Amino acid sequence: MMTNQTLANRDLSVLWHPCTQMKDHENFPIIPIKKGQGVWLEDFDGNRYLDAISSWWVNLFGHANPAINAALKDQLDTLEHVIFAGFSHEAGIQLAEKLVEITPSGLNRCFYADNGSAAVEVALKMSFHYWRNLGQTQKTKFITLENSYHGETLGALAVGNVALYKETYAPLLMDVITVPGPDCYHRELGETWVDYSTRRFAIMEQTLQQHADTVCAVIVEPLVQCAGNMRMYDPVYLKLLRSACDKYNVHLIADEIAVGFGRTGTLFACEQADITPDFMCLSKGLTGGYLPLSAVLTTDKVYSAFYDDYQKLTAFLHSHSYSGNALACRAGLATINIFQQHSIIEQNQGLAATMTKVGARFNEHPHVSEVRQTGMILAIEMVKNKQTREPFPWQERRGLKVYQYALSKGVLLRPLGNVIYFMPPYVISEDELLLLAEIAWQGIQHATQQ
Ligand code: PMP
Repeated sequence: MMTNQTLANRDLSVLWHPCTQMKDHENFPIIPIKKGQGVWLEDFDGNRYLDAISSWWVNLFGHANPAINAALKDQLDTLEHVIFAGFSHEAGIQLAEKLVEITPSGLNRCFYADNGSAAVEVALKMSFHYWRNLGQTQKTKFITLENSYHGETLGALAVGNVALYKETYAPLLMDVITVPGPDCYHRELGETWVDYSTRRFAIMEQTLQQHADTVCAVIVEPLVQCAGNMRMYDPVYLKLLRSACDKYNVHLIADEIAVGFGRTGTLFACEQADITPDFMCLSKGLTGGYLPLSAVLTTDKVYSAFYDDYQKLTAFLHSHSYSGNALACRAGLATINIFQQHSIIEQNQGLAATMTKVGARFNEHPHVSEVRQTGMILAIEMVKNKQTREPFPWQERRGLKVYQYALSKGVLLRPLGNVIYFMPPYVISEDELLLLAEIAWQGIQHATQQ
């Protein structure tokens, strides 16, 4: 019979898991999941876990969602995959049409890749290549924000700024210009998000002014730096950035891989600043959390800079074998259908308000320095000293203690360092949010003792 134990043993003898010090599993078990239903996962011993982090921020409408399942079963009997160069298919075309329709106006072209990091690589290469096709070969650099994260492949890692993931590989990475960011955790006492974000933009403006001639693009995660401990900022920063990029002739790349598809309260975070980036990267929620797929949306202006006779060698010759996978595109279509048929963005306002309500008590906790929220993301920052905000030493791994405690109580709350966050599927109920908050509270109590 298959049990957690037998499967964990087999797993640990052959597998190497992502983002994991495998030696940790000498002390705590890997959990083999047998099935999922809605917000719940179930392991081989029959334990259930509430998936409060949407399985790395991908799941939107629950595990084994009936509508997405049905669409995929139908697609499976029709076409699973076909080469996407020289060939096309209905699901890929329909999804591109939908994405052009629902993303900010002006994004009229859709290029498929197969994961988030790959989408970031595509956007970086396209931006560089655009300027090159225009004869501006001196534009070779990218501007990025402090504390940003854009993926783990070498280009994406280079434009990110989370030391834990980046530092080891520094000798392999291209040089980028890193600008202090608008992360509102650092605002002065009494300063608003708008004021702080506006004030911090001055450094970006100066940097653009100084380096515009050699810069292809600025890349940002709109509104929430998710992997950078769920740090947040005001839309005003994006507004200012859009006009500065126009002024200095530099592209704006919006990495909405984590924040797209309703996470920040609007379908796309850029909507809150009423801007259209030159490139928008999408993945994660794009397929409802079912299959790897990503898309880079861009403008007619960018597209036409590549459109010429073959002999001019201006084409974008980037490819991935699974670009535009038909099953993944069909899952994407089914996901967007759910948004449109059930007014999800409006419904989520109620859920976000409940998250605010259940999150409020954490403000009183003696080891919580901040509770912050943007739409369907709520983050709780644990610190050693509430007054000075001195963090717990990372070596103490307090977040991990919360994680393990919560798992023992049937909640999956994988933290980012000392930040505990709720980023649940949109099908979570009010009762489940209450349960989640209660277990998180107990977990933080447990982890911050002595
Ligand atoms: N950009 C952002 C903002 C992300 O949060 C992530 C993944 N956490 C990525 C890019 C990379 O996506 P993937 O893991 O699919 O490569």
